[in-house]
Amino acid sequence: MQNNGLQFENYSLRQQLEALLHEARQNEDKMRRFDQLERCLLSARSLDELMRVLLADYRTAFDIEFVSLALIDREYEAARILETNTGSESFDGLLLLQTAELIEPLYVNGCSTHLCAFDPQRHGPLFKSSAGAIASVALLPLMRQGELIGSLQLGSAAAERYDSAAGTNFLDRLAAVVAVCLENALTQERLKRAGLTDSLTGVENRRYFEHRCLVEIGQVRRHRQPLACMFLDIDKFKRINDTYGHQCGDDVLRGVASVIQAQLRTGDTIARYGGEEFVALLPQTSPLHALEIAERIRCAVAAHPFQSKSGQAVPVTISIGLAMASQESMADDAPAQAAELVAAADRAMYQAKHGGRNRVVSDSVFPVRKDRQSGQGRVALWLSSVLRNFRGALSPTSSE
Ligand code: GH3
Ligand code: MG
Ligand code: MG
Repeated sequence: MQNNGLQFENYSLRQQLEALLHEARQNEDKMRRFDQLERCLLSARSLDELMRVLLADYRTAFDIEFVSLALIDREYEAARILETNTGSESFDGLLLLQTAELIEPLYVNGCSTHLCAFDPQRHGPLFKSSAGAIASVALLPLMRQGELIGSLQLGSAAAERYDSAAGTNFLDRLAAVVAVCLENALTQERLKRAGLTDSLTGVENRRYFEHRCLVEIGQVRRHRQPLACMFLDIDKFKRINDTYGHQCGDDVLRGVASVIQAQLRTGDTIARYGGEEFVALLPQTSPLHALEIAERIRCAVAAHPFQSKSGQAVPVTISIGLAMASQESMADDAPAQAAELVAAADRAMYQAKHGGRNRVVSDSVFPVRKDRQSGQGRVALWLSSVLRNFRGALSPTSSE
């Protein structure tokens, strides 16, 4: 009898041990996967890579049915970064919010991880269309320096997966890591942007332009799309500095940059090339359309009411040189073709200076051809120079 009791106790202890070992193995496996996930999150080199790890890889690795990330993005900074890095790629489950209105009510009882049953009214907007299939949720507040910067939501069709009685150690740790990674990715992106932006005018700098020019030339070579390049130089800028002071000169530089930018489309590039010179790239723009835009920019600058600190009107004009990239470029590789394009626009700009300033000159309305020396090429060049002089004669004379 006593023997039977001991046997039963032994059996039950073995069962308990088995269950504990099973749980330990499961936790070990979970910990290994969490460790792997953390390493991927920490080594993400950009905001979009971080989004991919969090919204796609994490879901798959942990077999989570629904993951959504709400990020407070008051100044549209993250939106702009993602658009620049990935173009039209969208991230399933990402919500960029201008206010904390949607997520603050989730954490009224304290900023800690909550596991609970799905409430369509409170949680529905965070999961959008997938909300219908969710039974339980985990809500992870993302905090930095005591401030709520976002919220990560996990959703399951199983009511018991995110049970309020379950422990949240792993998820607390995940929330802390994700918050640090998000802050870090944004800082990295800011640094990247700062290295490619001109600090005085806020437009792109020459380094960015050179990179962009290669990308656009690649499109010209692959897809036979027209690409216009403008070189824009402020007329007699030294005199503006000398007459009204450098501070006023700086204001004029900023103003001219924003007037040019206002005339361009989102996909165009405007960069400060150096001193008082700007350069613009207009993809998929025909020669005549580019000429029209250049003329619009020239008029907008001349009409802009620039003022000195003392309220004096400061007349400002610019000279613009225009060139088109072509598939039949003489250059063999993209870097050489990019250099050729900028040099052609620069040459045209100098012609505008010599022609009296405050005007647009096109290097060649017809693309620069390999057969430049042939009869056909010469006719094209002659025609383009006739057009150039004709336009020059129509342009108002400079204030010189
Ligand atoms: P042109 O019509 O032939 O282009 O004459 P310009 O006076 O504009 O050309 P020049 O190259 O003689 O002078 C350019 C001036 O731009 C000289 C330089 O001091 C000034 N400059 C360059 N960078 C800056 C800047 O960041 N701020 C200010 N205020 N001036 C600058
Ligand atoms: Mg100048
Ligand atoms: Mg200059």
